[in-house]
Amino acid sequence: MTSDRAPRVGVIGTGWVGSSVAISILHRGTVELWLNDLNGDIAEGEAMDLVQGSAFYPVANVRTSTVEEMRECDVIVVTAGAGGRPGQSRLDLLGANAKVVEGIGTAIRGYHGIVIMVTNPVDLMTVLLVRSSGLPPSRVIGTGTMLDTARLRQILGRELGLAPLSIHGQVVGEHGDSEVVLWSGVRVGGRPLRSWPRWNAEREASAAQEVRGAAQEIIRRKGATNHAIGLVTATLLQCVLRGERHILTVSRVQDGALGLRGVALSLPSVVDRNGAEEVIEPEMTGPEGEALMYSADVLRKAGEGILAG
Ligand code: NAD
Repeated sequence: MTSDRAPRVGVIGTGWVGSSVAISILHRGTVELWLNDLNGDIAEGEAMDLVQGSAFYPVANVRTSTVEEMRECDVIVVTAGAGGRPGQSRLDLLGANAKVVEGIGTAIRGYHGIVIMVTNPVDLMTVLLVRSSGLPPSRVIGTGTMLDTARLRQILGRELGLAPLSIHGQVVGEHGDSEVVLWSGVRVGGRPLRSWPRWNAEREASAAQEVRGAAQEIIRRKGATNHAIGLVTATLLQCVLRGERHILTVSRVQDGALGLRGVALSLPSVVDRNGAEEVIEPEMTGPEGEALMYSADVLRKAGEGILAG
């Protein structure tokens, strides 16, 4: 990343999610934003609309671009492809979105920056982007269970009457139905949640289900989810651009953590300018570890047809 110009960020796909990602990025600070959508009018319209808010962000330098031109960007965010309809799982989107993501990967071959993958099923799309672009796995980061982790903290904060920022916990594995809440590691003010006076373990199942079902509840009502993922993506992007080294539950193609290889799923990882190079093996109970391995199996099986070869 060069220091003599504002960081350049490309967003591919400017539908519900891409437009929320774009506005969240602009509110964070000074970047040059390049937008692309298969439907050129949508990208152009978004660029015009965003620029008209220039009086309210630090700097708004927004333009449209081709995917190939985005090889000049420091970070490319991929949100292109279909979102879920009510009742569809994220894995149901695999067939429709695999071609979109492979096409993007092929178009950016030779790119040296970082890709943030948002398109679902995000774990499998992360693998596909690595394969089709030739980028090293640490430079292709899926937002993964960062959103689920944020939802967990919000739900527990609501239940305990505390700010979500005071609750530390993680959701790992698939961003989807087999995701795993690491209940044994949740801490509130430094104390294990499981010994918190106003909490009992029977509430874990319903809280985990609320996290898992959150997207469906929103999609059933408004047809898509966009604002929270926009904020998650802008936070991850900022961490990369500023080399903040936060530990985030992001997805990447694993290369040995917990014995996992070749499958992309979320584990806590240190994120900096080079992407997600350092993966942290979380402490887990036996059942949590088994649930995580099951989640990896779900992803391996779901990807068998498309990822073979
Ligand atoms: P949307 O239909 O509103 O927008 C998708 C956009 O992608 C459309 O404008 C479409 O024209 C564009 N597009 C399609 N193919 C393209 C291509 N080859 N190149 C450029 N643009 C292309 O959908 P959405 O609600 O914005 O959702 C986008 C994706 O984000 C979906 O896969 C959805 O499931 C996913 N999503 C992920 C998370 C997460 O946590 N990872 C959260 C919410 C949504």
